[in-house]
Amino acid sequence: MINVIRSSIPPFDEYCDEIKSIWNNHWLTNDGDKHKELESKLCEFLGVENLTLFVNGHMALEMAIDAMGLTGEVITTPFTFASTTHAIVRNGLNPVFCDINDVDYTINADKIERLITEKTSAILPVHVYGNICDYKKIESIAKKYNLKVIYDAAHAFAEEVDGMKVGNLGDASMFSFHATKVFNTIEGGCVCYKDANLKTKLNNLKNFGILDAETVEAVGANAKMNEFAAAMGLCNLRHIDEEIAKRKEVYERYLERLEGVSGLELCNRKCNVKYNYAYFPVVFDSYKYNRDEVDEKLRKNGILARKYFYPLTNSYDCYDFDVSQTPKAFDISNKVLTLPMYADLDLADVDRICDVILD
Ligand SMILES: *Cc1c(COP(=O)(O)O)cnc(C)c1O
Repeated sequence: MINVIRSSIPPFDEYCDEIKSIWNNHWLTNDGDKHKELESKLCEFLGVENLTLFVNGHMALEMAIDAMGLTGEVITTPFTFASTTHAIVRNGLNPVFCDINDVDYTINADKIERLITEKTSAILPVHVYGNICDYKKIESIAKKYNLKVIYDAAHAFAEEVDGMKVGNLGDASMFSFHATKVFNTIEGGCVCYKDANLKTKLNNLKNFGILDAETVEAVGANAKMNEFAAAMGLCNLRHIDEEIAKRKEVYERYLERLEGVSGLELCNRKCNVKYNYAYFPVVFDSYKYNRDEVDEKLRKNGILARKYFYPLTNSYDCYDFDVSQTPKAFDISNKVLTLPMYADLDLADVDRICDVILD
């Protein structure tokens, strides 16, 4: 059986060493030593000024939206994980869906401007599959209309574009450290941001809005990262270069086998991006089998791929949006499959997966 993902974990002894100090200080959560150390190490690694850790990426995004005081409408993409859209709606805001482009499936920056109304307060694009959005165009639109930009960078850990670390794009960026991501803290996430004043607000929101022992100044929630998660992050961060290098090998083997095959669309890599090789999406467009047939065939061979992202978030049962507004996203979501992708995936297994697809 080959699963779509296999979480990377550090050597057992390394993790045990890392958590030993917790048995001395009995400090399990609430801004402990591991938390402090991970926050500062990640600041350095991601090359950002301001960073706040969270219990997961979703709460990081939800609380970033809250802290930035967004109102009304937020322009976003439906070709993403549930979290992006839910974070907008759970803040009482209205998502306005912009279609994606057909090159890398990120938001189509040429279609953003026509969606802006006097209620629009922000743009929330997603670096989907680690493909970096057209940040220059997005920035110029945001400037022109005085909008905030928050990137869902859950897929873009450790990436760079035009020599710049991606956490510096926009007003804020959210990274997810979920078990299935390139870098994990079991569950976890962070938000990076330009405005240093957000730090107090975010720290407040993730701890029930408690400012000090006798002052509760915001209707916060509980979204703190605990010490065991932070310790996992400290260990995994030591191995991140090796993690990405192994993923690159897997990625390149897939390319070797599948590039140029008629009916298969693979995302083109851009030379101005330093990738993390998080995913290997394939779009089955007039291939001899459709996406669902390939998925079924892989499953019969003990290989689990993922229809990522299907369905679109604007077609969820819990919502009532008009999917016809984003035809390209709809089309891709019906044709895309992400293949198994993780650092320890054997190249022989990659070959086996490709054999099934090509057979
Ligand atoms: C994983 C993910 C999230 C949510 O992150 P969690 O850490 O699982 O809460 C948000 N957006 C995208 C695009 C993701 O892939």
